[in-house]
Amino acid sequence: MLTIEHDNGLVQVLRSIKRATPPGWRRRLRRAQRAGSYLPRQLLGTITGVKTEEPAVALTFDDGPHPVQTPQFLEVLEAHGARGTFFLLGESVRRYPELLARIVRGGHAIGNHSWDHPSFPAISARERRRQIRECGRVLGGVHPKLFRPPYGDQTLVSRLDPLWLGWKVVTWSISGTDWRGDNAENIAARILQGLRPGSIVLLHDALFRYEDDRFVSREATLGALALVLESAADRYRFVTVPELLRLGRPQREFWVQPGRADYLATLKSGET
Ligand SMILES: [Zn+2]
Repeated sequence: MLTIEHDNGLVQVLRSIKRATPPGWRRRLRRAQRAGSYLPRQLLGTITGVKTEEPAVALTFDDGPHPVQTPQFLEVLEAHGARGTFFLLGESVRRYPELLARIVRGGHAIGNHSWDHPSFPAISARERRRQIRECGRVLGGVHPKLFRPPYGDQTLVSRLDPLWLGWKVVTWSISGTDWRGDNAENIAARILQGLRPGSIVLLHDALFRYEDDRFVSREATLGALALVLESAADRYRFVTVPELLRLGRPQREFWVQPGRADYLATLKSGET
């Protein structure tokens, strides 16, 4: 009984404080609340796009460099005066260092996609940090330091490792979903439908692991890339992720995708 009265009294006191709070202070309180979620989002958020009025978008390519396919993608991009961002695997960079040099020479950007593409939530923190560090080492001095988790798999815990190591996590706002045997027209349509200023698009110039041998070929993705570049050229500039980040404010989300062990176990690999 006494407690209830006390509670009621407290509620009334709080209400009267609220009533007595001048509007300017209420605004300040609201702002402070927003600021409270600002810092965690800055630290633990994942960049999925950029808030900008500029008609610019970033095309990104994962799982390379590949000795045959990556040069084909570079040719298509450069034929259209476009720049791309390549999220590279350390193991492949070690094998084909000249491709890294070729990408950078063309004015494209590079990012860290781990050493050999494990799903990060499925490995230990120590191994996650090794994966990021080793890939970063073969990439050389790269700025800004951009990291994309393999398969886009991430938990709040696995998000901490790139944070400790100083890598910004970048995923995407549009997935080309170019790993399931879709034709060029379908992949291009999916991208063009979603495209808006500040979009980050996911594509693959290689597939480290795949569901079926038929999906390994990059013909459809190359075709889709040409279609997108041709049909959106009058509306958008195709810039690198670092350039896009300079054109506005990064859009950050709490990106959680724990990954599915049963799905990952079905994937094939060209590596033996
Ligand atoms: Zn990948």
